[in-house]
Amino acid sequence: MTEFSPFATPDQPWVGLTGSPLDRADHLRRDPGAMVALRSRPDARWLVLDQLKPVLTKGEHPDILWAYRSDVPHDATSVFLGLMPDNQGGAPRFAASAPATDLVEDFGGQVVDARAAAAILGDGRAEIIAQARSLIDWHARHQFCAVCGGKTVMNKAGYARSCQACGAEHFPRTDPVVIMLAVKGEHALVGRQPNFPKRFFSALAGFVEPGESLEEAVARELYEEAGIRTARVRYLASQPWPFPSSLMIAAFAEATNLDIILDADELEEARWVTKDEVRAALAGTGDWLAPPPMAIAHTLLKAWVS
Ligand SMILES: [Zn+2]
Repeated sequence: MTEFSPFATPDQPWVGLTGSPLDRADHLRRDPGAMVALRSRPDARWLVLDQLKPVLTKGEHPDILWAYRSDVPHDATSVFLGLMPDNQGGAPRFAASAPATDLVEDFGGQVVDARAAAAILGDGRAEIIAQARSLIDWHARHQFCAVCGGKTVMNKAGYARSCQACGAEHFPRTDPVVIMLAVKGEHALVGRQPNFPKRFFSALAGFVEPGESLEEAVARELYEEAGIRTARVRYLASQPWPFPSSLMIAAFAEATNLDIILDADELEEARWVTKDEVRAALAGTGDWLAPPPMAIAHTLLKAWVS
């Protein structure tokens, strides 16, 4: 019998929206004095989100337009993102929710939809957009206490809100979503939701419910949406998906039946596809369209055919 090795599987695959260069420096968030000092540093910069849309530079290779403190309204919601690596001086990075008019006019910035920005940027900067968008959105949605309805205020540099009436502490949400590729022999299951672009298919997905393991969520979703029963579940990778606050957990599911019973409320169509069909779809030459590289469903499909 071969001895169990926890790392006997291949290396972790590349996943979009991951790989931030920032050190989140949690120990500094709890230190108001340290935060004041970081905000005052000459190399401190802000990523501005206007209505949750990041401000980028223009040109052939857009980048995050890192704004100076003086360009951010003093009453804007401002959160600490982290410190740049030591070889960049550990420069502090923040995000703020503010109108982008001045940045666009004075510095030639452009306001870009967050999902489009993440797709353009890549290389860890997309993950900074993800972190900022998720956090800023959470503050906008949690102005009032879920326990007593009292007004809440931000603390821990943006990683908590406290209720001024009852003292309850609230923390940023992360909602787990399983996304799974059901596999049976030489076939994998892809489906399309009614709102997907034409010809677009992806792995099936769904929110994890209270009192449920990830494996149970995978099996339940596959059965609910497509009538597929699951034997084994194998974790592949995870991805933050800040639209608004999901954590995508990608897995392979070993299916035990091929007959699809569609839940028409969830899916418009589901079909079993071969590896050759998936390779063609990933290359953009198939008769259906696969998710773009930024999506973890792309990572799943790619891992299955590689
Ligand atoms: Zn309260």
